[in-house]
Order: sequence, then C-alpha cells, then structure tokens
Amino acid sequence: MERSAPTKQHFNSLIQMMKAIPDEQAAIDHFTVIRWKHGAFCPQCGSTKVYHFSDRRTHKCGDCRKRFSIKVGTIFEDSKIGLREWMLAVWLITSHKKGIASTQLAKDIGVTQKTAWFMLHRLRYAAQTKSFNRPLDGEADETFIGGDLWKYALLIMSVRTNGEISTSDLIEALPSYVKLSDDHSTANASRKDSKFSQIVRNLKSHKAVKINFIYQGYAQDVPGGFKITRKGLDFVREYFKN
Ligand SMILES: [Zn+2]
Repeated sequence: MERSAPTKQHFNSLIQMMKAIPDEQAAIDHFTVIRWKHGAFCPQCGSTKVYHFSDRRTHKCGDCRKRFSIKVGTIFEDSKIGLREWMLAVWLITSHKKGIASTQLAKDIGVTQKTAWFMLHRLRYAAQTKSFNRPLDGEADETFIGGDLWKYALLIMSVRTNGEISTSDLIEALPSYVKLSDDHSTANASRKDSKFSQIVRNLKSHKAVKINFIYQGYAQDVPGGFKITRKGLDFVREYFKN
C-alpha cells in the first residue's frame, strides 16, 4: 500500500498552479505532501504507523486502526468543498493583499456566497494560527457552530428594537435558528449552565479575539447584551437576502 510522495511545488502564477493541480486527486496529493512534510501521522492518536490505500485518498492507522483522509484534523475537514477549491481560495486570498470579498471569491471559484464566507473564515483562522489544524472544539463551536452562530445572532438583533438584545434573550432565541447537539444542550454540572449558553456568552467575553464578530465590527458590546452595528445590518441584508 506504500506509494512515493510527489515533491512539494511552489507556484508563480495561478495558471501554473491550475496546470499543476488539474483535478481533485492532484490537490489531495499536493496537500498530503504539505501536511506530512515531516512524515505521515494519524490525526486521531498521533501514531506514525500509517498505511496508505491504493485509492490514494484513504489511510489507516496501524495503532488505533481508524481509517481517515488527509483532510481529517484540518480546517478542511467538515466541509464538502474540494481541496482544489480550497487551494484556489488560498491563492486568491493571498494574492489580494487588501482582502477579497466573499461575493468575489464565490464567483471566482464557483461556490455559493455562504460557502465562500465559510472558507474565508476558516482560512483567516489558519492564517492567524499559521497552521491548517482544525480549531479545537471550543474555538470551533464559538465561531462556527453550524457555521453560523454569530450570523444568526446578528439576524435576531436586526429585528429587535434599537438592534439590541440581552445575552439571556439571545441564548433563548438562538436555538430556533441553529441546530444544537445533545452535548450543547446538556447542563454543565459545575456551572449549572449549558455548553451552548457558555458559547453564546463567549461571543461577548471573547470580543478581543480577531475572528469575534464584535472585534470585526458587526456588533457592539453593550451592558448585559449586544447591539448590532451598521456593518452588521448591511451584512444581514446581504447574507440573508435569499
Ligand atoms: Zn491512530
């Protein structure tokens, strides 16, 4: 099941990259080289005893016996987006120094605007952490719960008087918009509070984090709650127009 790895390539132009990565398999091969530059490892247990299947996509850990793809444990893991699209997005984002709008990214790589938003956020996270490793569960939940928690928080605020909502009202209102896991709803014994409530509170207490929606200017931190900003209202209008 062993195979030789292709060498890592660097690209000087978009055309060069697209020629070198003509299809999804080529993108998988390319990313495999980047991710395993120090050797193959299991994303579940860290073992370096890894077997490769002849489909060139599936690997199996010799210790924990789990099968996995190269996307497992990375920011690319829980999405249906192909690695080729992700690589195109990385190229486009890094070549637009002033940033690229999700609408533009959506057009350029042929995905919906929602998908482009998701990709931009994940790639920003990767840029900040300088790694393709997936956010830890807590971080992932806070920013990406169902991909959209903060967006729905903004939507709820946008229809409130003065665009304001208390944190407790937001905790009550959000579950009608996002799908919660049992784990999220279960009360945390030590806090007498659910994991989900804590995630919503973190929207406020983690406002200094660059990916936070208050930090980004979509909402304001007001006493006891949140208030949507002009930028937040514009976002809601654009994002939820369909
Ligand atoms: Zn393992």
